[in-house]
Amino acid sequence: MDAVTVDRIVVVGGGIGGLSLALALQRRDIAVTVYERASELREIGAGIVMQPNGRNGLIDLGVNDAVAAVSSCPAAVHACDYATGEVIAGLPNAWLEENFGLPLLAVHRGDLHSVLLAAVRDNDPAAVHAAHEFVALDQDADGVTVRFANGATDTAPLVIGADGNGSAVRSFVFGGPPARFNGQVAFRAVLPGEAAPAITRERELAMHRGPGRYLLYYSLRGGELMNLIGCGHTDTWEEEGWSIPATAQQFLDAYADFAPHLLDLIRAVPDDALFKWGLYDREPLDVWTSGRVAILGDAAHPMTPFLGQGASMAVEDAVVLARSLEASSTVEEALEIYQNVRCERGNNVALWSVEEGRALQDPDLPTQGTFRPELLNYNPASVPLR
Ligand SMILES: Cc1cc2nc3c(=O)[nH]c(=O)nc-3n(C[C@H](O)[C@H](O)[C@H](O)COP(=O)(O)OP(=O)(O)OC[C@H]3O[C@@H](n4cnc5c(N)ncnc54)[C@H](O)[C@@H]3O)c2cc1C
Repeated sequence: MDAVTVDRIVVVGGGIGGLSLALALQRRDIAVTVYERASELREIGAGIVMQPNGRNGLIDLGVNDAVAAVSSCPAAVHACDYATGEVIAGLPNAWLEENFGLPLLAVHRGDLHSVLLAAVRDNDPAAVHAAHEFVALDQDADGVTVRFANGATDTAPLVIGADGNGSAVRSFVFGGPPARFNGQVAFRAVLPGEAAPAITRERELAMHRGPGRYLLYYSLRGGELMNLIGCGHTDTWEEEGWSIPATAQQFLDAYADFAPHLLDLIRAVPDDALFKWGLYDREPLDVWTSGRVAILGDAAHPMTPFLGQGASMAVEDAVVLARSLEASSTVEEALEIYQNVRCERGNNVALWSVEEGRALQDPDLPTQGTFRPELLNYNPASVPLR
């Protein structure tokens, strides 16, 4: 069947999901314009994990090798005692590859973003517009007009909201309460790999589950960098954002009962490289499409970081949505397929991630994220659409 006939699709949000969708559309000869709120598209964020299911999507996008080249591929996922630091169990990454086709990768969000952006711009240098903050839209039977804070407007037959956790498109179209603080704060840092204690460099990736908190580190860029995250509950929190400065003393005080080499890892973080990040989430939505508008990625299913699936799920959404458009003759038909194929899975994974968060902060509970076969055994490029 011919792909749906649309002149062009507008995507709001130039993050991981928005750029993945742009690339998936371009590779199917469907024109796309991306509008991003940030005034410049620069490398920002810290480490994220690309799981086998998300990497299947990267293959469809044609960037799997480019992403692998700037990532770390740790030998194993280590589960360690938080107080002694000793390894309790190790899941070889080769086992993931044997069972799910590909090993997991650890990648700096900025590197993943850069690879996607370069590929989109290679296809169309004018596809991405920075400094365009979505504020409103109107739609009728023929198309959707989006309005931006800078006064610009654009009209297209289909608009996709890929504007992240606090999605303004979602609020505008579907209403409901805004994203809310879920009581957990993460300390996060990226430090030079050579500054990290030797044992952390050898292990490459280790999770330490402690009472009410966990600490996770993993190598990035083949060991050039080390990503560190400590996450736990707090009674008070003020702001939403990825880059709220924190001090090593705050981090050390909150994790004082963790193993000495982990405290050394915290002390090795340069002064200006430590940030706090308050976790926000939203109620699941049963419907992700309305007329000629749909949402994807965190806008559709805000994902807590506990399963390391946020980026992978956004890539999955993007590939399935592009395939749905390719396989349909109308926008309505394509969005119906997208809704049917993606909504239940996205909402389930968001729920599993919340459950995993509880287990990660209670060493007495079993953790199962990496072992859910249905989570990792998914290929958005081949999942049946009907
Ligand atoms: C700056 C930043 C840093 C991050 N760092 C990490 C990290 O270190 N670790 C981690 O696990 N996850 C991080 N994330 C989240 C992670 O990228 C997402 O959870 C995941 O990749 C899903 O992708 P997404 O495209 O749905 O959302 P995102 O990647 O968050 O992309 C959403 C995009 O929409 C843009 N946007 C928001 N509102 C508007 C608007 N009104 N108009 C136009 N554009 C808008 C945002 O600027 C952003 O570029 C970060 C996100 C951002 C925005």
